[in-house]
Amino acid sequence: MMMNVPLTVGSMMERAEKFFPKKMVVSRTLSGIQRFTYKETGERTRRLASSLEKLGVQQGDRVGTFAWNHHRHLEIYFAAPGMGAVLHTINIRLSPEHISYIINNAEDRVLFIDEDLLPLIERVNEKFASVKAYVIMTDKKDLPETTLSPVYSYEELISEGDPGFEFVKDIDENAPAGMCYTSATTGNPKGVIYSHRGIVLHSYAMGLADTTALSESDICLPVVPMFHANAWGMPFAATWFGSTQVLPGPQFTPKLLAELIQQEEVTVTAGVPTIWLGLLKELETGSYDTSSLRAVVCGGSAAPRGMIKTFETKYGIPFLHAYGMTETTPLATVSRLKSYQQDLDEEEMLDIRSKQGLLVPGLEMKVIGAGGEVKWDGEEMGELLIRGPWIADEYYRDERSRDAFRDGWLYTGDVATVDEEGVIKLVDRTKDLIKSGGEWISSVDLENALMAHDAVFEASVIAVPHHQWQERPLACVVLKEPFKGKVDKQELLDFLAPQFAKWWLPDDIVFMEEIPKTSVGKFLKRALRDQLKDHLVQKS
Ligand code: ADP
Repeated sequence: MMMNVPLTVGSMMERAEKFFPKKMVVSRTLSGIQRFTYKETGERTRRLASSLEKLGVQQGDRVGTFAWNHHRHLEIYFAAPGMGAVLHTINIRLSPEHISYIINNAEDRVLFIDEDLLPLIERVNEKFASVKAYVIMTDKKDLPETTLSPVYSYEELISEGDPGFEFVKDIDENAPAGMCYTSATTGNPKGVIYSHRGIVLHSYAMGLADTTALSESDICLPVVPMFHANAWGMPFAATWFGSTQVLPGPQFTPKLLAELIQQEEVTVTAGVPTIWLGLLKELETGSYDTSSLRAVVCGGSAAPRGMIKTFETKYGIPFLHAYGMTETTPLATVSRLKSYQQDLDEEEMLDIRSKQGLLVPGLEMKVIGAGGEVKWDGEEMGELLIRGPWIADEYYRDERSRDAFRDGWLYTGDVATVDEEGVIKLVDRTKDLIKSGGEWISSVDLENALMAHDAVFEASVIAVPHHQWQERPLACVVLKEPFKGKVDKQELLDFLAPQFAKWWLPDDIVFMEEIPKTSVGKFLKRALRDQLKDHLVQKS
C-alpha cells in the first residue's frame, strides 16, 4: 500500500515558498506594476490566513472575492483554502440580482473587494444575509469612503497577521477549497464546488507535456479572469510549479496586454477568443516583440481557424486550443498533433488543431447520440459526457443538478463529433444549434468560416424562427475598419457557398458595430436572438 497523504491547496503555496523563494509574481494594480517574490507572497498569504481566523472565518466557511487578476487575489486563492475555508470567486460582471443571489446562495462570510469595484457591491449589499465583514483591497494608505460596514483594510490585515501561520494539512482532501458560479441559459447562476484534491490533480494535468505543459520556466499571463473558473487553474498550477506569474489587473486593454507580453517576456497566456481577436487588432497597428510566447491558450468558445492561422503564420505565435467548462475545473481537452501527424500538410494540421482536441489523461468521456455512443467517424454527433476526479458531480444546492449529473457523468450540454483519432470537435452548444427542417446546422462552423474572411473581425451565427424550416441561421458580422461599407452580404455569402451545403448558408447577414458579449467575453447569443427573432419574418 501507499501512504494516504491528502492533496491540499496550502501545500502548493508552501512548495513555491520553499523551492522558488526568488521567483516572482508581477502584479498590475491601479497604481502600477508591483513585484513580489514567492517568499513574500507566501508570507503575506500566511498572514492573511491568520487574519481570516481573527475575522471569525471557520473551516468550511466561504470567503468571497470581487476582484481583478492581481497579487492580492492570488494570496486569497491560497489563504482561504490554506486555513480550511472555501475561496468563492465572484464574477464582477454579473447583474446586481445575480451578484446578491450567489453571495447569499454561497453564504459568503467575508467579502474581499477591489477599491474600484466597491460601487458594484454598495448597490446590492443590503440584500446580503451572511456577510459579516468587508475587506477592501487598495494600494492607498487610507480606505476609500464607503457605505459598507464593518470594513477592514487588506494591507492592515496583512501587517497584523501571523507570518508563521501553518496551512492546514490534516484536512480531508475531498473537502471544498473553492467555488465558482457558471452562467445558466435561464435562471440563476449555478454553483460548482472544487475540492482540494480536484484542484491539485487538475494542476498536475496542466503540467503535462501533452496538455499546457506549464512549468517552472514559464512566465504565465492569465488574461482569463480569476473570477472565471479559477483563471483556468493557472494561478494554482503556476504557483505550485514556481512559474513566474504576470497578473494584468484592472481594466486592461489589448495594448496593455501586448506591452505586458513584450516587457515581461511572457511565455504562456490564456483567454477566450474575443481577447485574442482584440490582441490581433493591436498587433496589426503597433509593433511588439512577442517572440517570448510559446503558447497562447485559447478556450471558452471555439477558436476560429482563421485566427489560429493568423497568429501562427503572420506573427509566429504558437496557438493552443483547449476546451473545458466551470464544471470541469476547467481543463478537459487540449488540441495537439500526435507524433505521427507532424508531417501532414499545413492545412490538414490546422484542421486538427482547430478542433477541441484530445481528452486530458485522468478523464473519461462518452459522446451519446440518438442511437447510443456515436461512431468515431468525425461525422456522427452527440452530447459530450465527461467524468473524472476534477469534474463536479453536482451544482451547489440546486435542483438543476438532476439534469446535468446523471449515472456518474456530467452532461456537458455540448454537441460534439469524435474522429478516428479520438479527437473531439464541438459542433455547438445544444442551445445554440440551429435546427432547420429536422437537420442540425452548426453555428460554430459558420462563424469559423466567416471569421476566416479577411474583412471580418467578429461573427456570430444564431438561430432565428422560420415559418417553414422551424429555425434558420442568421449571421451577425462586425467588419474590420478598412472594410466597412466596402464588403457586402453577397460577397460573404459567395465566400461561404463553396464551403457548405446550400441549406447551411445563412438566410441573411446583419452588419453590426459590435457583438454583445457575456460576462466572460463570449458572444452573447441570447441577446442577439432576442434582438433579431423577428428579423426573417419582417424581411419576408
Ligand atoms: P459559461 O456557461 O458562463 O460560458 P463556462 O466558461 O463554464 O461558462 O462555459 C463552458 C462552455 O464553453 C462549454 O460548455 C462550451 O460550450 C464552451 N467552450 C469552452 N471551451 C470551448 C472551445 N474550445 N470550443 C468551443 N466551445 C467551448
